[in-house]
Amino acid sequence: MGIFVILFPILVSMNFPSSEASAERKPDRVGLLPLGEISSELLTWLGAELEKRLYVQVEVLPASSLPESAYNPQRKQYYSSIILDKIRNLHPWNYDKVLIIVDVDLFVPSLNFVFGEAESPGKMAIISLTRLRQEFYGLPGNELLFRERVLKEALHELGHTYGMQHSKNPDCVMYFSNSLADTDRKRADFSQCQDVLKGLEKIIRR
Ligand SMILES: [Zn+2]
Repeated sequence: MGIFVILFPILVSMNFPSSEASAERKPDRVGLLPLGEISSELLTWLGAELEKRLYVQVEVLPASSLPESAYNPQRKQYYSSIILDKIRNLHPWNYDKVLIIVDVDLFVPSLNFVFGEAESPGKMAIISLTRLRQEFYGLPGNELLFRERVLKEALHELGHTYGMQHSKNPDCVMYFSNSLADTDRKRADFSQCQDVLKGLEKIIRR
């Protein structure tokens, strides 16, 4: 009788790893593409933080230059949709997602400015660092707050590339940020985003 007592746990422990392995899939590959001069330390940090929250593997790509055709001299801003178009057509991007990081002010014609833009669903997204710094508003710098905002904007735009829409919950990172007060209220993860996940739970790390 003793042999059954020993065998049973062995069979159970052999079963679990194999069923987990069959459900295992490769994480999506995300390329972080700086246009212009962006701190490589910030990019490395952002990549690691994204990997903690999304089921992705992030690579920081060599910096490229901003497409000057996106610049609007009247507005002194860059048209984010033109940057997305230009960069999309530049390379056969071998990534599931490409997140462009710029440090210039972005706009789309219907809005005074945008923090970022994304194809939804799609591959390409862009965020701007410019308006995420306290200094932009004449306030003393706050590196911790700045980084939190960068992470939230990056998660938000990547969420759009997975087809997520805007959440109705102000705590969810997919809530639309009309101002930085909205951004600062949100959590830097998808834990409050049940209304927009809709089957996308598999891309979230918990
Ligand atoms: Zn959005």
